[in-house]
Amino acid sequence: MEIHSTIDAMRAASRAARLTGLRVGLVPTMGALHEGHLSLVRTAKQQCDAVIVSIFVNPLQFGPSEDLAKYPRRFERDCELLRKEEVDFVFAPSVEEMYPDKAVTYVTVEGLSEKLCGRSRPGHFRGVTTVVSNLFHIVEPDLAFFGQKDAAQAAIIRRMVRDLNVPVEIIVCPIVREADGLAMSSRNVYLSPQERKSALTLYRALQEIQKSFEQGERKPPQLIEAGERVLAQEPGVRLDYLEIVDPDTLDPVKEIQQTALVAVAAFIGTTRLIDNIVLGGQSV
Ligand code: AMP
Repeated sequence: MEIHSTIDAMRAASRAARLTGLRVGLVPTMGALHEGHLSLVRTAKQQCDAVIVSIFVNPLQFGPSEDLAKYPRRFERDCELLRKEEVDFVFAPSVEEMYPDKAVTYVTVEGLSEKLCGRSRPGHFRGVTTVVSNLFHIVEPDLAFFGQKDAAQAAIIRRMVRDLNVPVEIIVCPIVREADGLAMSSRNVYLSPQERKSALTLYRALQEIQKSFEQGERKPPQLIEAGERVLAQEPGVRLDYLEIVDPDTLDPVKEIQQTALVAVAAFIGTTRLIDNIVLGGQSV
């Protein structure tokens, strides 16, 4: 496994791979890897000849009062895990390498970036699309792999790729959960044992909505109410949003006729977690 920290070296290695006819896959991450990330890596390994995993805690996508400084960084351990998966390249640039001279150019997917997490985390999605676009230019992957865990992010990146005609195929992989249902997240390490229990309520609320949907309920307000009832039983949870939206436009749906995304975000103590399910389809 080659580890590159400079843009020039990463670009040269990726280009060399593509020039020999290999299909190159990129898995962008912020490190502190868990099974969710590794599932993306395994899918990439199946679909590509050369797999590049980027590890970069992107300051642009953190708000001023968010957890950039304390975000878990486990570079050595991450590399060990990736070596076991037989990943070909790790790209781990410094902040200065990615954004020389405090770059002032951004990529924004307007409208979509203000929805769901974009509402409570202004600038977050702009940070994501800017770094992902940057990574696409450096790596020039044939395919790029993202998790359904960040469903809004996936929708926004799909839209960016479409609008800017980026020659990359976006593959979205299912959410990987702990045995009890909690969606895996690098931020789960922040949770105390008590908070860890409270956090499970997010998935329980989503399951309640799923149950109600399966019993025939199609009206979002009723479905949301069913989920909110579950969340209200857990005092450790402070809800940010629970919404039923179109998986592409992220606009609230009035009545569920096709696939709909149920997305939740909540604070458990000071930790902000997100989760989602898809109604009326396998994934988005
Ligand atoms: P992050 O390191 O949190 O930026 O995540 C990197 C990629 O892994 C993103 O595309 C996430 O959606 C994906 N990911 C994170 N957690 C999970 C999970 N539990 N299941 C599937 N994919 C995930």
